[in-house]
Amino acid sequence: MSIFTKIISGEIPSYKVAENDEFIAFLDINPNAKGHTLCVPKQEINKIFDMDKSLYTCLMEFSYDVAQAIEKAVPCKRVGVAVVGLEVPHVHVHLIPLQDMDDMRFQRKASLTPEEFEETAKQIAANL
Ligand code: 5GP
Repeated sequence: MSIFTKIISGEIPSYKVAENDEFIAFLDINPNAKGHTLCVPKQEINKIFDMDKSLYTCLMEFSYDVAQAIEKAVPCKRVGVAVVGLEVPHVHVHLIPLQDMDDMRFQRKASLTPEEFEETAKQIAANL
């Protein structure tokens, strides 16, 4: 069972931004930048291009809505999109508020307090 399946079931807590029957969005716990959000299908699928095309399209539509909300809620130049999956083998779309190229490198990390995580998740959710 993936760590994200445990988040989806509520076994592990997360700072949730959005949820519907098929997908969930929550803040990345080790964010590249404040507002870094993961959009995840509830079905545990390892690799993004193993998804069937319609679920893939729905995940991208869900991510689109979350990205629009991030851009309204978090000051940034734009929202970057990445799919990696080398650490957690459960499909997830990274949405990252960008100030510069280093925000896309997964090396420089932002440190947020629990209160800042909570507030950021609320602000993004409020713009959905
Ligand atoms: P990837 O699999 O795309 O290389 O990276 C996985 C991402 O998931 C990382 O950015 C990491 O910080 C995030 N992550 C790993 N474990 C957890 C967790 O338990 N909760 C949350 N919210 N994010 C996690």
